[in-house]
Amino acid sequence: MLVVGGGPSGSSAAYWLADAGYDVLVVEKKHFPRVKTCGDGLTPRSVRQLEDMGLGDALRRHHRYDGLRALAFGKELELSWPVHPEFPSYGYVVTRADLDALVASRAEKVGATVWQGSEAVAPLGADASSGGPAGGAVVVDRDSGNRTEVAARYVVVADGANSRFGRALGVSRDRSAPLGMAIRGYYESPRHAETFIESHLDIRDSTGNVVPGYGWIFPLGDGRVNVGIGVLSTFGGWKQLNTTKLMDAFVGYAPASWCLSPESSLGPPTGGRLPMGLSVGPHVGPDYVLTGDAGGAINPFNGEGIAYGYETGRFAAATIGEAIARDDPAQLAGYDDLLSETYGLYYKVGSAFMKLMGRGDLMRLFVGTGMYSRTLMEWVLQIMSNLVREDELGPAEAAYRAIAALARRAS
Ligand SMILES: Cc1cc2nc3c(=O)[nH]c(=O)nc-3n(C[C@H](O)[C@H](O)[C@H](O)COP(=O)(O)OP(=O)(O)OC[C@H]3O[C@@H](n4cnc5c(N)ncnc54)[C@H](O)[C@@H]3O)c2cc1C
Repeated sequence: MLVVGGGPSGSSAAYWLADAGYDVLVVEKKHFPRVKTCGDGLTPRSVRQLEDMGLGDALRRHHRYDGLRALAFGKELELSWPVHPEFPSYGYVVTRADLDALVASRAEKVGATVWQGSEAVAPLGADASSGGPAGGAVVVDRDSGNRTEVAARYVVVADGANSRFGRALGVSRDRSAPLGMAIRGYYESPRHAETFIESHLDIRDSTGNVVPGYGWIFPLGDGRVNVGIGVLSTFGGWKQLNTTKLMDAFVGYAPASWCLSPESSLGPPTGGRLPMGLSVGPHVGPDYVLTGDAGGAINPFNGEGIAYGYETGRFAAATIGEAIARDDPAQLAGYDDLLSETYGLYYKVGSAFMKLMGRGDLMRLFVGTGMYSRTLMEWVLQIMSNLVREDELGPAEAAYRAIAALARRAS
């Protein structure tokens, strides 16, 4: 098995494949520890996956937090993570340099081989770009320039949001689906050890207009905070938005107690795209599956992608295991079924909801009303972070159904 990319989804696929006894090679074009532009926020969904991979103790060396502080229109609410039968009620903030190196080395420990500094530059299959099998990949060692043809029975395409390898297989993004754009930088802050992450739901452009999206301040516990903003393509004026300017403005009006300023900045911010709602596909080819950002697996409600990288990587491993056990590549279709069962309706509702939120007036109404009610915002947190309990028809589920009905009517 060949896994292209050693981020969350690739390393998770490699871990679960190797753990099941399969022969797996990960090619990662950078060397660990490598920087990846991210907010570094791990929600309970991510923590659950990391703990399942045996990384609970390693995580405890990082900064743990208990919930989210939401701020908007002059109001502030501290919302703890909900109690849930399947997920812990805490998260962590860990730089991706540390996190991705940790998971890749965990995959190695259970038997995966990881080639660092190795880029998959093209599929091996002659008809790969027109729906034929990938067959493996031509892999270039970026240090020596040596090229190797790696033949593989199955390929996991886990090369992230830009997914050049995916595009070489003829995969594309549904342009009608929402796309996120986010930018982040690091700052020194006296509040670096706080146990709540902070989210500002009323970010503004240079003229003071509220823009659909949010600003965040995530404490790392090591003297630094990760500061960023994310915006949505569902907003009419999206193409004209300058995220660097939005970020500068956010740093200017964020609460003074964080001490964010050009002086406390630890370097220029960097940004990236967030493909959401399973908007990249097809997710299954004759001998490959797409995981994480390469398959557009980011949660459209909140822009979270790490948990969905781990989860889709795990689904990919399980499906490939099934195809090998039955000696039948057609079993890969089961991966699509798993994605639909797990995320289908939720992501459809999330995408429709984000289209509604793209209308600034509706967003102001929704957030402005929500901030008056702790209970309502607790439900919203549960829904947006995909932590609604299946086992009870609680208020969050009722609220989710209401949002689903609203979104279905609007779409
Ligand atoms: C500004 C920003 C903030 C974000 N904040 C958060 C957050 O706080 N929490 C959260 O959950 N999500 C966040 N996300 C989303 C999250 O970063 C992604 O969803 C997540 O990284 C997806 O994991 P992945 O494994 O699919 O892809 P990636 O993490 O992008 O990993 C892909 C890997 O493949 C390698 N690669 C690429 N091409 C090749 C090739 N041809 N050959 C070999 N290797 C290759 C890359 O070097 C990389 O290591 C944020 C995203 C952005 C842009």
